[in-house]
Amino acid sequence: MIYDLGLMVSIRASVLLARIETTIGKTMNKQNEKVCMNCNRTDEQIPLITLSFKSAPKYICAQCFPVLIHKIHLLADKLPGVEIAPPADH
Ligand SMILES: [Zn+2]
Repeated sequence: MIYDLGLMVSIRASVLLARIETTIGKTMNKQNEKVCMNCNRTDEQIPLITLSFKSAPKYICAQCFPVLIHKIHLLADKLPGVEIAPPADH
């Protein structure tokens, strides 16, 4: 009886551990997933350009690249602390 209880506890513990590992795995996949910072498309859907900002990798697709160049203020929430140049005087 005591043996059975111990077995049940160890089974429950390993199930719990497996769940924790799955959760960590999912979180890590999400962090490593390359998505366009503007349209959120992945590199499975569209080629992404890798950028570096404050030593962190950022990704943007070719379609959204002009936004980065001409309308960087639209990406300000994705790039905290980015320098926003005033519009050029054409
Ligand atoms: Zn995009």
